[in-house]
Amino acid sequence: KETHFGFQTVSEEEKGERVYQVFENVAKNYDLMNDSMSLGIHRLWKDWLVRYMNPTPGTQLLDVAGGTGDVAFRFINYVQAQREKIRRNKLDHQQNLSWSDISMSYSQEQKGSLMGSKAVICDINKEMLKVGREKSLQLGYSEGLSWVAGDAEELPFADEKFDIYTIAFGIRNVTHLEKALEEAYRVLKPGGRFLCLEFSQVNNPVLARLYDLYSFQVIPVLGEVIAGDWKSYQYLVESIRRFPPQEEFKEMIEDAGFFKVTYHNLTSGVVAVHSGFKL
Ligand code: SAM
Repeated sequence: KETHFGFQTVSEEEKGERVYQVFENVAKNYDLMNDSMSLGIHRLWKDWLVRYMNPTPGTQLLDVAGGTGDVAFRFINYVQAQREKIRRNKLDHQQNLSWSDISMSYSQEQKGSLMGSKAVICDINKEMLKVGREKSLQLGYSEGLSWVAGDAEELPFADEKFDIYTIAFGIRNVTHLEKALEEAYRVLKPGGRFLCLEFSQVNNPVLARLYDLYSFQVIPVLGEVIAGDWKSYQYLVESIRRFPPQEEFKEMIEDAGFFKVTYHNLTSGVVAVHSGFKL
């Protein structure tokens, strides 16, 4: 069967192989390229995603196509901050607590700062995972993260294991979108939430013109100059244009069985965050 790799028609098998090659090529420069191509804005989009997710301590996250770990790191930071807030609140009220309350809160303290929260980063590309794991050590993340090689279309996890499934700038690279959505549904617990951050359709005509110019004229050049790799970056731009627009993607998420599906445009639809629940 045939599908698309950017603007080219290729076999489904070839698409998988070529996507793998692209990310193998870009892995080492991935973070640098993200910052320079988006002028750092990808950081704000990812911050927005995690604030919107608003995870509580104890949440189990699966970040698919997690690459070098950006979403998972933010998740851990957020949960730690929430945990700290709870701890401070408790301390503020400690005068009124009985001894048994205090010893109970002490034993919870021993369970670690994340209260059991975990983020599993799953990506098909071993190079991306390697860069991510090294980055996590450099940044000093010691707990709560695990790195797993796996395909979004065939996740190596049991049913109903996670509270939240995220996929950021990943789903457009997958060969069978429907399969990836089915798998997201399968691994979520009932009540669990699907969140997808992806490039989408710009809804402001002036910005759309500028964005087109920037995407097709500037990005491949940046790719060539910074990473010596025009083709990979050309693919990234083309794959964005082939991805279904907001409403169409929303329907696909509903077709996979999710409820209360909504989306939010960020930066006039340059990216959108889609959300849905498994009931
Ligand atoms: N989520 C990270 C971020 O936001 O920075 C990385 C996004 S990167 C543009 C896309 C990632 O999708 C790559 O790491 C690539 O290896 C991964 N990927 C592509 N196809 C995949 C698949 N079928 N299953 C899992 N990951 C896949």
